[in-house]
Amino acid sequence: MQGTAIVTDRVHIDAVDDPEITAQVEALLSRRTRDIRLVGRINTLFRERVWSQTAKTIRAWMIWVAFLDVLTLALYMLLLPRPVALSMLLPGAIIPPVVIAVVLIWRKPRAPWLQGATLIAGMFLILLSVALVGATAGGEFYERHLNIMLFVTITATIIFSIPLAWTVTISALALGLYLAFQLQNPELAIGSAVAATLFFASGVFATVAARRTMTILAQKTFLLELRDRHRVAELAAANDQLKLLARTDPLTGLANRRWMTETLDQLWSGRKKIRGGAAMLMCDIDEFKMLNDRLGHGEGDRCLVKVAGIIQANVRYDRDHVARYGGEEFLVLLPGVSEQEAVAAAERIRESVEAAALPNPASRVSPHVTMSIGVAVQSPAEVDASPEQLQRQADAALYLAKQAGRNRVLLHKLESSAGKNGRWAN
Ligand code: GH3
Ligand code: MG
Ligand code: MG
Repeated sequence: MQGTAIVTDRVHIDAVDDPEITAQVEALLSRRTRDIRLVGRINTLFRERVWSQTAKTIRAWMIWVAFLDVLTLALYMLLLPRPVALSMLLPGAIIPPVVIAVVLIWRKPRAPWLQGATLIAGMFLILLSVALVGATAGGEFYERHLNIMLFVTITATIIFSIPLAWTVTISALALGLYLAFQLQNPELAIGSAVAATLFFASGVFATVAARRTMTILAQKTFLLELRDRHRVAELAAANDQLKLLARTDPLTGLANRRWMTETLDQLWSGRKKIRGGAAMLMCDIDEFKMLNDRLGHGEGDRCLVKVAGIIQANVRYDRDHVARYGGEEFLVLLPGVSEQEAVAAAERIRESVEAAALPNPASRVSPHVTMSIGVAVQSPAEVDASPEQLQRQADAALYLAKQAGRNRVLLHKLESSAGKNGRWAN
């Protein structure tokens, strides 16, 4: 019930992520139900959660009480002797304006002290009005209205889901009014007034105890809801993590083959994204087996990580996709590029790998790590080519690049001269 707090799901989502709240929820739920006490932020969260319903109940109750008050006064005007009925009008007229004030204040969340003060003051004035109507009319009305006042108190106690201190204060005020008025009752001895007060006090406080139990159960439900949401959020996070692990190559951190296949499917099913054509680069480290054999598997792994970094550094971070496709093979997808741009990108990658001068002393190509790249381009005109076709073309171009001596870029050409599946990029 914080002044600025508006109840939204956001509040609870934030709370669900807060480890301090999570720990408190667990600690509270490990207690016996009757020992559950919400304090601090978790109590504020609970109040925020129930505020809207509580305020609605209080407003409806208040309006109902005002309606009954007006109805009763009208009936008294019709049924009772004029002077008696008229004497009841003034004290009875207290209720409607009080109700209007409380309803207006309880229309939206305010500072807790303001809500507590208006509710307690409003209840006191309503109860005082009921008692005064009886006292001014006198006779049978005196006692009857005091009983009505306690009845009003009990209904409010049961249905108002408010802090216990407020409930106790309202109940104590009602019993105080009851005792004060009964002591003034000309038809009742002091002893009887005190005895009647004690009798009703036991009933009123039994109701307060019932209210307390209801509040604790509502709080426990709230704690279980927080715990549930936390567990769901944890599961969702674990699920996301698993998904990521299943799609990532642990050595290089690049997308793995599965992820690339998913990406290709998505891009090809959402045609718009590849309207400008697309290119695939199949990159394969030359003589990598030699590197492993000569320098060891560990050095081979380090080389793969470095080459992965080089490839990524040479493509557009926000548009292109790089995946480790096999052992020392990387597939690069460049959406929306021309043939020239694709070959330029491939050449950039090849040169950068060479320039990094990573050792591969046993290679027959060069003492340093080199890379061969097969390029296949789908022009905007031939959008019918599937990703598999494009991949096969890039593979075919790579095969030719290897055959032609490695450390080179080869572009696959559909309309290439007879007997050839590709042509040199430069
Ligand atoms: P080419 O120039 O024709 O591509 O020859 P290559 O030696 O690179 O190709 P080949 O397919 O004969 O060998 C690939 C090697 O890559 C064999 C395998 O041991 C190695 N390899 C595959 N995955 C890994 C890995 O994760 N780490 C390391 N260190 N080596 C790997
Ligand atoms: Mg290979
Ligand atoms: Mg190789």
